[in-house]
Amino acid sequence: AKKAVLGPLVGAVDQGTSSTRFLVFNSKTAELLSHHQVEIKQEFPREGWVEQDPKEILQSVYECIEKTCEKLGQLNIDISNIKAIGVSNQRETTVVWDKLTGEPLYNAVVWLDLRTQSTVENLYKRIPGNNNFVKSKTGLPLSTYFSAVKLRWLLDNVRKVQKAVEENRALFGTIDSWLIWSLTGGVNGGVHCTDVTNASRTMLFNIHSLEWDKELCDFFGIPMEILPNVRSSSEIYGLMKISHSLKAGALEGVPISGCLGDQSAALVGQMCFQDGQAKNTYGTGCFLLCNTGHKCVFSEHGLLTTVAYKLGRDKPVYYALEGSVAIAGAVIRWLRDNLGIIKSSEEIEKLAKEVGTSYGCYFVPAFSGLYAPYWEPSARGIICGLTQFTNKCHIAFAALEAVCFQTREILDAMNRDCGIPLSHLQVDGGMTSNKILMQLQADILYIPVVKPSMPETTALGAAMAAGAAEGVGVWSLEPEDLSAVTMERFEPQINAEESEIRYSTWKKAVMKSMGWVT
Ligand code: ADP
Repeated sequence: AKKAVLGPLVGAVDQGTSSTRFLVFNSKTAELLSHHQVEIKQEFPREGWVEQDPKEILQSVYECIEKTCEKLGQLNIDISNIKAIGVSNQRETTVVWDKLTGEPLYNAVVWLDLRTQSTVENLYKRIPGNNNFVKSKTGLPLSTYFSAVKLRWLLDNVRKVQKAVEENRALFGTIDSWLIWSLTGGVNGGVHCTDVTNASRTMLFNIHSLEWDKELCDFFGIPMEILPNVRSSSEIYGLMKISHSLKAGALEGVPISGCLGDQSAALVGQMCFQDGQAKNTYGTGCFLLCNTGHKCVFSEHGLLTTVAYKLGRDKPVYYALEGSVAIAGAVIRWLRDNLGIIKSSEEIEKLAKEVGTSYGCYFVPAFSGLYAPYWEPSARGIICGLTQFTNKCHIAFAALEAVCFQTREILDAMNRDCGIPLSHLQVDGGMTSNKILMQLQADILYIPVVKPSMPETTALGAAMAAGAAEGVGVWSLEPEDLSAVTMERFEPQINAEESEIRYSTWKKAVMKSMGWVT
């Protein structure tokens, strides 16, 4: 067979809440050459708790690397062409492990987890001086969502964690740190680092000085010596060293040179490099990020201020305004796993298509309270507007509509904060393969929705950052590097008035979801 003629290749680990992927791109065109995906488990040991096994996560990364390399081999593509690897990851999810044994000291506490609600309430009472103490430094509201309180909980409740901290054996990290440490050798010299985008989601990081904040660490009672080193999103952190896995070991010595939280990675993958450019990613949750350039914009409407990216040690930092929705694709997974009305996530489209309307049924999936723009921990999910006529297809439709309404709420907030309304919405993520969802979204926003033909934008962003790093230099971050990516557009089809009526009924439903937990 003839060998494909290719530019240098770049790999990307995309470690999400629902699955792990490894993907390999051609750096000259952004063409996706091969990939492998593994779904990962979520454990719900108690109501409101969400955990994952850090070792299963790591194992899934090895498996994805091995399988992707195998597939490349079948395509006659030489894996020695892989010049760099980027990492993008679910953000905030918190791991503490033992640096001497490499063993995690507890499950990963997932971003959606609500166990820290009382921790947050108690901390609120102790906020020094002004209420803005946390937000002004971190851009974030004090919430169960971010890592600092999850880490606080681990320090308070897990004896193994306490002991390891006392004995100077504990390392803390978000998933990126856990993976990079493990992939660069683990107990044999693994590099303990994170990037500015992931650090900005911990609630311990000062987004102005780009350093861990001593005052915040004192406030949350976090020992600073367990925190990873903070690096830019694009530089060589270390080299792949996973000798125990023969097949994944084929990438031995390849630099890991890109690291971005998944939402930042998607922003980069969508080439939203200009002030005012935005994207919305539909995965487990939904995250709308708008690049605000070098300035930190603080929201008046419930959005977060976060580090967008910093593509190189000497490159400037970019910030973003972010609207975060906790439950989007997760509601589809819930219909699959908890109600069993579908066998796979894709089936939702068939059900929704059968009816083409929710028939007055509204589904507010506030399983983990409501995030932006409400930040209401007391909310819980409701399905309302039911009649004798309602069937599972209407509920399926209402679930898809819920994702679109939630996006509308954050887009409205974004438009108010930014002043200039978005003319179209760039989208990506696992759910965007659902055409009904995309059309509904255009109808509910009343602006066109634009989706890249290559849906793996998050991985692409991580690959771009890795390929562009100093010392690697195979990706220039110019639009022509994305020549393999074309766009699909969904134009609004219903009239604005109809759209408004549906949206205002949704808001009524949201009001009813609040105040369930006191
Ligand atoms: P994450 O990055 O959070 O792991 P992904 O971007 O991989 O998420 O998207 C997976 C989510 O999208 C899952 O929650 C799944 O239920 C949902 N999903 C996948 N395919 C579809 C589909 N065709 N229609 C609706 N939801 C889908």
